[in-house]
Amino acid sequence: QTLAERVTARLRDIPDFPSPAILFKDVTPVLADPEVFGAVIRDMADRRRGSIDVVVGIEARGFIFGAALAHELGVGFVPVRKSGKLPGDTVGLTYDLEYGTATIEIHSDAFVGGERVLLVDDVLATGGTAEAACRLLDQVGATVVAFETLVELAFLPGRQRLAGREIHATVVVP
Ligand code: IMP
Repeated sequence: QTLAERVTARLRDIPDFPSPAILFKDVTPVLADPEVFGAVIRDMADRRRGSIDVVVGIEARGFIFGAALAHELGVGFVPVRKSGKLPGDTVGLTYDLEYGTATIEIHSDAFVGGERVLLVDDVLATGGTAEAACRLLDQVGATVVAFETLVELAFLPGRQRLAGREIHATVVVP
């Protein structure tokens, strides 16, 4: 069995969450399986060993994969959070959602500039969140080397929105 098959077997579809007509990919069964979770983290780390200075995780499930990955790579972890959550001075970026806007933030002293960053999240859907995180990291002078995600929903335009960036998904849902 490939890693993609092992992960796919542990993704759970939840209909109408968080709103009607959305089919939500629940990754918690992947986290609950120590062998599969461990294999995912080692696989993500093996692609990036030696080429990353910092792992950046996107709130909230990106923290779970990102912290484990940072530990595996022996590098630090920096969180990108929703607005108002980080205690220190922050730099923020507001981006458009289907209805309304969202703001993400990062600590302003998290980067001096030039750090090679691996950005991590659990699911790439429309790409709005990951694109905003990349732009925020560009703004603070970090270099986004790659984006790693457990799941890519390929029927949505996430990959196109991140055009020009190096993206890898453990599982691509067609
Ligand atoms: P996007 O901005 O539309 O690409 O959505 C990605 C963000 O929403 C990520 O932070 C994901 O954690 C979350 N997300 C979107 N769809 C799903 C899903 O089906 N399962 C889990 N998380 C999702």
